[in-house]
Amino acid sequence: MPQNTTVNRRIVLNARPVGAPTAADFRTEHTPVPTPEAGEVLLRTLYLSLDPYMRGRMGDGASYAAPLAIGDVMLGGTVSRVEVSRHADFKVGALVLGYAGWQDYAVSDGQGLTPLYPDDPHPSRALGVLGMPGFTAYMGLLDIGRPVAGETVVVAAASGAVGSVVGQIAKLMGCYVVGIAGGPDKCRYVIDELGFDFCVDHHADDLPGHLAAACPKGIDVYFENVGGAVFDAVLPLLNTRARIPVCGLIAGYNATELPPGPDRLGLLAGTLLRKRIRMQGFIVFDDYGPRWSEFAGAMGTWVQQDKVKVREDLVFGLGNAPEAFIGLLEGKNFGKLVIQVAHE
Ligand code: NDP
Repeated sequence: MPQNTTVNRRIVLNARPVGAPTAADFRTEHTPVPTPEAGEVLLRTLYLSLDPYMRGRMGDGASYAAPLAIGDVMLGGTVSRVEVSRHADFKVGALVLGYAGWQDYAVSDGQGLTPLYPDDPHPSRALGVLGMPGFTAYMGLLDIGRPVAGETVVVAAASGAVGSVVGQIAKLMGCYVVGIAGGPDKCRYVIDELGFDFCVDHHADDLPGHLAAACPKGIDVYFENVGGAVFDAVLPLLNTRARIPVCGLIAGYNATELPPGPDRLGLLAGTLLRKRIRMQGFIVFDDYGPRWSEFAGAMGTWVQQDKVKVREDLVFGLGNAPEAFIGLLEGKNFGKLVIQVAHE
């Protein structure tokens, strides 16, 4: 069923996933379109962002944010049109960035809504390069990674929303940049379109050998998106005083237990100590919220000047969100994954 004016389709958390999420962990409900009260707006969703952090909210393990309850609408960043306004600050037809989640319509009191240009030709970019993932790449690389011209920067998930931007900023800083990505098509894109110096396919045999060959001067900045076998390959190549922004560990998001031994904590801690490596996690809005306008100015200019290129993986139809999200955790997306919920 496509979006219509009377029914609100909403995809809710049906069950907490055990391991990789399945279609049965989601449920679609049909409810009447809600009516805004005084001081509220009715939002119609045009674009929905799908992001790896959503996997954490589906579970109830330790996290930096509270889990969803069973039956809650799946959360997510959205670009929406204001359909009905009873709020002085938002006119009917305005385009806004918000967090309406996996549904056609939502009522908002305006808190957390960011106005976008009504005629923006690429509104979905507010969910990617010009939004949370771009902000993550910018702050993690520049504030924690602190790349210096001539250094070697390595980033995994290199064709994705965060990694593609990390590598392009590092190139703008004058670094030698190596991506790690899943498959020859993604690797070709990372070199030919994004301008990285090299890309290593982590599905191919001998990742450690290929990565060592791609980084003849070792690694000065490793932007961690993945963990697992990729981090194992990176660890021995880290240079003295290397920096590691720990952004995400997607290889482990579906894990139900710790990986089998041997215990590598001693190896990791010993490497950090001997090489005086700085490894720091961050949660982008919690840690860097006040620097949003700095990011928005810099990234807006880079994108406008085509110095940072953008690739979206646009999937049409809210009903396809569960399958697309499951695929995101398996590397099936190619670029920033966005659901187009409705044509304008
Ligand atoms: P992407 O668009 O990069 O999509 C996820 C990609 O991860 C997949 O396409 C796949 O790429 C890669 N991947 C998945 N499983 C594995 C695996 N087992 N081994 C290696 N690679 C894998 O996602 P985002 O750019 O949105 O997110 C990247 C990371 O950044 C995630 O870990 C996310 O949680 C984190 N993040 C953290 C934030 C923070 O504030 N700390 C904010 C935003 C994101 P490929 O096929 O190339 O392997």
